[in-house]
Formats: sequence, C-alpha cells, structure tokens
Amino acid sequence: MAYRRVVIKVGTSTLTDETGALDRVYIASLAMQCAAEHRSGSDMVLVSSGAIRAGTEQWENYVGQPAEPLSRATIPFKQAMAAIGQPLLMQAYLAAFGAYDLPVAQVLLTREDFGERHRFLHARNTLQQLLKMGVVPVINENDTVATEEIRFGDNDTLAAMVASLLDADLLILLSDVEGLYERDERGRYTRLVREVHRLDESIWRMAQGSGSRVGTGGMITKLQAAQIATTSGVTMVIAHGRHEGIIHHICRGRDFVGTVFHPQPRKLCHRKRWLAYGLPASGAIVVNEGAKQRIVADGKSLLPAGVLSCEGHFLPQQVVELRDESGRVFARGFTNYSSEEIARIAGCQTAQIEQRLGFKRADEIIHRDNLVLVYSR
Ligand code: GLU
Repeated sequence: MAYRRVVIKVGTSTLTDETGALDRVYIASLAMQCAAEHRSGSDMVLVSSGAIRAGTEQWENYVGQPAEPLSRATIPFKQAMAAIGQPLLMQAYLAAFGAYDLPVAQVLLTREDFGERHRFLHARNTLQQLLKMGVVPVINENDTVATEEIRFGDNDTLAAMVASLLDADLLILLSDVEGLYERDERGRYTRLVREVHRLDESIWRMAQGSGSRVGTGGMITKLQAAQIATTSGVTMVIAHGRHEGIIHHICRGRDFVGTVFHPQPRKLCHRKRWLAYGLPASGAIVVNEGAKQRIVADGKSLLPAGVLSCEGHFLPQQVVELRDESGRVFARGFTNYSSEEIARIAGCQTAQIEQRLGFKRADEIIHRDNLVLVYSR
C-alpha cells in the first residue's frame, strides 16, 4: 500500500559532508526515492535542514578562512548563514528533482505561522495547492526572521507540525542515527527499539543526553516530534538517512532498520492540536491533585475550587498551561479568566465567583472543550 501523504525530514548531518558542503550525490538519491513514491501516487513533502551549515561553508570559501564554530556563533551570524545557505539548498533540490521532472517549491515557515489561525490556514492552503499540482514543497524554518524565544530551533518539531497541519499519514525523520535506543544503567546503548505504541516515561528516559554532532536536534526533539505526530494520527519513523533505498522500504512497510511510532488511538482534532502545540503559553495555573485527577481521569473542566495559584500575567482567552503541585505541565487550555481574576477566585466555590469579582464570565476557569491534555516531563 502506498501512503497517501508523506513528510520527510532530512537533518543537516545527513545532507552535508564533513566540510559542511551539500552532498549532491546524497541529494540526488533522495530525489530519486521521492520521485518513485510520487509516481506511485503519494504526495511528497520535504522538510530540509542544512541551510546554516551549507551557508557557512560557502561563506568560508568567500572569505578564505574558517568561520567561528557554529556552536559558539551568535544568532545573527547563524541567521545570516541561513540566508546564504537557503538558495544553495534550493538550487541543489531544483537540480536533483528536475532530473525526474518533478517541480519543487520553497516554503519557509516560523512558529508564529502555526500560532495564528489565519496564517496557519494560509500556510495549509498554499501547501495543499502545491500538492494538488504535483509539486514537492521543500520546507525549512524561516531562520532569518525567527526570533530566539519563539524559534522551532530544530526541524524535527517543524516537520511534525507540518505533518499534522497536512494530515499526512507518514512522517519520516532521516537522521545520522538508526532510531531510538534502549540504554543500560551505565548509559550505554544496548538495543534498537523497533516499535513504540505509547510515549511513556520509560521512552523519554532513553532519549536523555543524546544529540547529533552538527544538527540541532537530539533524540528529545525527535520524541517531541513523535508526540505531535502520533496525537495527530500520523505514523512516525526515525531511520538512518544513508541506508540504501530507506524511503522506499519504509513507505512499503518492508523490513527496515529504524523506530516506528504508532499513531495514538484517538487523534486530536485540528483545533485541539493548535491549542496543544501551536501557541506558546501566556502563563500557567497550578491546580491541586483532586482537580488534576478530575481533568485527566474523568475528562472534567477546571473549576476555581481546584486552583492553587497562577504564574505569569495573562488575559481571558489566552492559552495557559495547567501544572500540578510538582510543577509538571499536564494540560493546556483557553482560560475564561485573567491571572488577576483567578488570584481572587482561587479555591472558591463556583457560586462565590460573582460575589468575589462582581461578575461571572463562566462557571469554569477552563471549559473542557477548550482544554487538551499534554504529556510533559
Ligand atoms: N533550519 C536550520 C537549517 O536549515 C536547521 C535546523 C535543524 O538543525 O533542525 O540549517
């Protein structure tokens, strides 16, 4: 069975050689594999890193001396390198996909594009249009405008957001690792995990301390991507990008080396995905254990009686996180009351809201319909 819609993310370390130059032979093989899947009827979307590193290599050639290592470089320098490298990336993709008469299109996105509803819809419409026309969108973060606080920073998360936005069936993260590894008590990798059905604590523990040499993502960002993908109904695979025919093997469900994350049984609707992953939270509400249980286990709303305190300043209708007494975030939602109002009604009965505030906007601080559970560590 061919997948209807596939998003493939390729990391910097997979796309560039040891000098930082784009590996055009590799890009040609990527194009060949994508073209084959496209011919079998799959919409193909590429999320490509590599701009900063390729730009740096180009810059070093211009000036004839090595640049500061990227790990120590300033944000403006990296943004400048992304601006130099992005056209090089596209040039390489145009040539490689052109050999298979497959048109490509550059799409640069930021986190804000997923946070604001009208931008989110515009991005989705444009991508849908490109796919309808048989074009392969090549997506990267718009590094030159993305400010530090709201950057995705890594294309793993961006790719998962794109897969969710487009209701893809499959997201493939091609990396310089084979997948997620189990580790022994001394932290040594022991066994590749072939399938993950639930992203529980034991899975998150496996990801700690891992990271790739030249890309920005490590295993943690890949698991965060898995959380977004699998709650959006998307199957996600992590695999080594350099294995022969890897895309074809994954798309055909053949025996391949990698980790498969299965979609969660109940996928979130778009509105809840947007609430869970689209916007940075404006603040947090700390709730007691009883309220947490009613929200998590019984699917109830948050009432004033369960609130202990607030963190940050926020207004009605903004997105806030819900934290338990240990500080762990377990849900997000649109609040009916501001942080100042909540400070005055925290712990009280619903019947007392009006008496304390002089008005009542709603019985609930956050109504269940405006609340989504999230897993955090
Ligand atoms: N957007 C960055 C680039 O193109 C890559 C971010 C990442 O490593 O995932 O260089």
